[in-house]
Amino acid sequence: MNFKMRAFPFTKIIATLGPATSTKDAINELAHAGANLFRLNFSHGAKETHIQNVKYIRSIEKKLGKSLGIICDMQGPKLRVGEFKDGSVLLKAGQSFRLDMQKKLGDETRVCLPHKEIFKALKKGTYLLLNDGLIRLQVVDFGDNFAITTVISGGVLSNHKGVNVPGVTLPISALTKKDLEDLKTATELEADWIALSFVQRPEDLKNARKIIGEKASIITKIEKPSALNNLEEIVDLSDAVMVARGDLGVECPLEDLPSLQKHIVQICRAKGKPVIIATQMLESMIHNPTPTRAEVSDVATAVYDGVDCVMLSGETAVGEYPVLAVSMMKKIILHTEADTFYKKSMDVISMPPDHAIASAITASIPTVSKVLNSVSCVVSYSMSGATTLRVARARTGIPILNLTCDEKVMRRLTLVWGVHSAKTKLIKNLHDVIPVARQVAQKILSAKKGQEVIITAGMPLAEKGNTNVLHIATI
Ligand code: PEP
Repeated sequence: MNFKMRAFPFTKIIATLGPATSTKDAINELAHAGANLFRLNFSHGAKETHIQNVKYIRSIEKKLGKSLGIICDMQGPKLRVGEFKDGSVLLKAGQSFRLDMQKKLGDETRVCLPHKEIFKALKKGTYLLLNDGLIRLQVVDFGDNFAITTVISGGVLSNHKGVNVPGVTLPISALTKKDLEDLKTATELEADWIALSFVQRPEDLKNARKIIGEKASIITKIEKPSALNNLEEIVDLSDAVMVARGDLGVECPLEDLPSLQKHIVQICRAKGKPVIIATQMLESMIHNPTPTRAEVSDVATAVYDGVDCVMLSGETAVGEYPVLAVSMMKKIILHTEADTFYKKSMDVISMPPDHAIASAITASIPTVSKVLNSVSCVVSYSMSGATTLRVARARTGIPILNLTCDEKVMRRLTLVWGVHSAKTKLIKNLHDVIPVARQVAQKILSAKKGQEVIITAGMPLAEKGNTNVLHIATI
């Protein structure tokens, strides 16, 4: 296997768009710097801005000649307090503070919390975390539409700040009324991926799937401890998973975050589900042109763990150096993937095959590559992308080229480790795949004369998801 510095990283980059980057020029620069997918965050921004950004992305994609993925991220049931007379109040440790359903403006003694479901789920002693966990309240008394709390850790609480109820499974769906409207917009925009926020149970995904159908693939954001209780089933029901460290770090003790991240990544990799690490990866680059040493190390750790994607949020949405943040991320990925320890860590955490014929073919790829020593890439003729996902699961260290006639599949695969895509006509014979594979390997991955291309496909070719052929062609 050849792990010297490569032109394209295996690990993909997601850039969140926001006020700093909602122009055609800015998106173009982000794509050229190395962003593979763009996240439209429906918690912020006007619908018109998202629609315009999709138009920009698709026109840039055309010029770039390379698929770009679009993720529409639903706000989900983010709980928020109402408004205060003076915009904010200072809560002091030890004081009493009331939350209720009354619509009138709040003050130092009370504020509206317009979510009936919360009050139903409370117990005496339950903690409520406000403003990203900076303020901690403990419930001393409650009824159907109010809670009296004691302030444990105080601070400034302003209009519409978020409320988390750690450790409590709330009787609310992961899709709110706003989400249902945003979902409609997202599917009309032909989003490749829809990210669901605050998923708590497998039913949340089953319900979302009924609405979304095959129109887009689903990313589950893991940010509630209740989701961790059903993690395996939730991963099985998802097309991809995001470790949403922002809210997860409010709901769980911060010191648990690294082990939770490793655990979630391991489960996703074993199941062959793409996994994304998100939030605060290069946070200081919101205001600085260089990241901290700890941030560089955080990105590298995710890469060493073999994740599919690393994500930028505020860095590209509102930051002063969005393009530098993407270039820095790409640099860290390329250097980490070139390290001999990267190959070792891939081998150590390589996933056991699942005893399917397709996996037997995938498992043989590293051996073929070792014996021949000049393999350029694996070309996978895969209409649905399922075979390509299996090849990616094995993290063989060889670039993967997916051949398909479906543009949607190409775009969805932008999220997957090591995968490039090329569009082809419908091919009916394996014999006809071979010259196309040779040609695209040369064009897209600069494969050289004399190098080999490993071709995987399923016979008969028209049938989906039955990989049973491995062919080696020389260029
Ligand atoms: C997160 O909480 O880490 C996250 C990615 O979600 P959002 O950016 O929507 O808060």
